[in-house]
Amino acid sequence: MASSFSRILSSKRQIGILSLVGGSVTAGYLLQHRDHVSAGMPVRRVYPSSAEYPDLRKHNNCMASNLTPAIYTKLSNKVTPNGYTLDQAIQTGVDNPGHPFIKTVGMVAGDEETYEVFAELLDPIIKERHNGYDPKVMKHPTDLDSSKIQSGNFDDRYVLSSRVRTGRSIRGLSLPPACTRAERREVERVAVDALAGLKDDLTGRYYSLTEMTDKEQQQLIDDHFLFDKPVSPLLTCAGMARDWPDARGIWHNNDKTFLIWINEEDHTRVISMEKGGNMKRVFDRFCRGLKEVERLIQEKGWEFMWNEKLGYILTCPSNLGTGLRAGVHVKLPLLGKDIRFSKILDNLRLQKRGTGGVDTAAVGGTFDISNLDRLGQSEVQLVQTVIDGVNYLIECEKRLEKGQDIKVPAPLKQK
Ligand code: ADP
Ligand code: MG
Repeated sequence: MASSFSRILSSKRQIGILSLVGGSVTAGYLLQHRDHVSAGMPVRRVYPSSAEYPDLRKHNNCMASNLTPAIYTKLSNKVTPNGYTLDQAIQTGVDNPGHPFIKTVGMVAGDEETYEVFAELLDPIIKERHNGYDPKVMKHPTDLDSSKIQSGNFDDRYVLSSRVRTGRSIRGLSLPPACTRAERREVERVAVDALAGLKDDLTGRYYSLTEMTDKEQQQLIDDHFLFDKPVSPLLTCAGMARDWPDARGIWHNNDKTFLIWINEEDHTRVISMEKGGNMKRVFDRFCRGLKEVERLIQEKGWEFMWNEKLGYILTCPSNLGTGLRAGVHVKLPLLGKDIRFSKILDNLRLQKRGTGGVDTAAVGGTFDISNLDRLGQSEVQLVQTVIDGVNYLIECEKRLEKGQDIKVPAPLKQK
């Protein structure tokens, strides 16, 4: 652990210096002044950890199923180099015992080092959430070669829109649950500065939430382009809505087909989307745009948080690895009512949501269907899983329309 910390810290120092050269005093100041704390440093506590242990008896999130008094005792005395504690990391899972539609993780990261300092709890959580992926022994693959995708054009009578998103975090700055106001503003400055370099069909501009009218904001939400207002307790209890809307906003190209959210749940969320069922084209633009965003960020002297065990590092452990959620809004009124629907989705490694986002129920038989996994498989593999799976669901819907029977497919083998 010590060696990988010195790697991260030395790269932070480097970024701080580069950032100073680039004109940012804030980042350089913050990064230099963090070195007085060291990873795993003990937290001073008055009461014994047994007296601090949270009551998790009514909980069903992944944190609650993996936390034990012994692990709590060991980890609750530790702190990351930025001063982030276990109690801060699990607070959202303590305050939100469950979620009506999905099994939540119940824990967030305040910085890149959270995943190392609290690995004894996070590794088993990651294993549970990511279908057996073991960060101790496995390596995560990245593949953004969209030419490998087969048959990515859905039947437009069923698929209303296609979307691929991921998140990226900027190394050296704390994540949304723990960042300071200055760090959050620095994320915005670095991202917006870099995005100004996007060209051709990706050319666009930044729309700050603080400068938008309520009506403009609501229109972007209603059109599915912008994140929801910070109403979800998963977000607020994790500390991610602090100072809202300071330093939050959306960058998008002129066609609104390539969008970057700034400082919602992650430093950045990179999204490619359009109406209709051309998932292949959406993924092409996603890969091209994402590579370009990374190049521009690096050109400014910054880099994304990444390591070979966990892939891209994001706030919620459910998004580690690719951070990729490829999904469609698809009309499945008959299959959606069939009792086998959930089992079919599980076996195809797919997740369903309502079309208004993760906190909404599906209405009128239209669902948001996306990949369940993010870690241990590449972007190409996950998008292909969604394409094959959604085609299977549409076939089922067509069979039900004709009064024919449908089959629950065998569980998908992990690649
Ligand atoms: P994310 O995982 O990207 O945070 P959410 O479930 O929070 O997704 O939804 C964020 C927004 O993205 C919502 O407004 C939702 O309607 C929109 N969205 C998600 N998938 C699609 C899709 N396939 N087509 C159109 N809009 C989508
Ligand atoms: Mg969301």
